[in-house]
Amino acid sequence: MNLKNVQMETLIRGIPYPVYVENDATASGHAECFVRGEKENLAYLSLEYGVGGSVMIAGEPYSGDDVKSGEFGHICIEPGGLLCTCGKHGCLEPYISPRRIDAAFGVSLDEFFKGVEEHNADYEAMLYDMLRHLAIGINNIRMVLDCKVVLGGFLSEYLQPYLHILRQYVLSGNPFLSDADFVQLSVVPRHITPIGAGLSFIRDFVAGV
Ligand SMILES: [Zn+2]
Repeated sequence: MNLKNVQMETLIRGIPYPVYVENDATASGHAECFVRGEKENLAYLSLEYGVGGSVMIAGEPYSGDDVKSGEFGHICIEPGGLLCTCGKHGCLEPYISPRRIDAAFGVSLDEFFKGVEEHNADYEAMLYDMLRHLAIGINNIRMVLDCKVVLGGFLSEYLQPYLHILRQYVLSGNPFLSDADFVQLSVVPRHITPIGAGLSFIRDFVAGV
């Protein structure tokens, strides 16, 4: 919403319904666990213009001490590298955000991935560079959390044909792995955030039955 330092109370005061405020990637991670039906550990990485994430421990969000856990988009993967929306250089986000495709080629994701299928050399080089940097980020997450890393967000809808390449990059960058099957695509590629936010109300309703 491009808002900073606005009290949440100010935003929700005029809404005449029960309101639940949650980070979008945390809601998405929660929904991912819910739909999978597994009380498992999982790192959810949301690949949209902003790259976010969340950490789920046994199916429940781990928020951290200051409600800032899982900000995977701002892990530094290239010191001094590309400028990030957060103002720092070298974060994961500017390397793997669809914004990078917009800025470089001015095409939609449909057009970009169609071009990759047709072996447009510039598009292929960009995609492989994005996947290489994504693999670095995934390996950093795996090193810390030792759990599944699930890729969601609208960019992830295009990644199935390239998942094996991404897994190869991950595998080659992590000496502790025998396979990279822990890198998975979301089972809810669309509308996952509102599903996750809605779960709060569902949980309260079930508890009150
Ligand atoms: Zn950043």
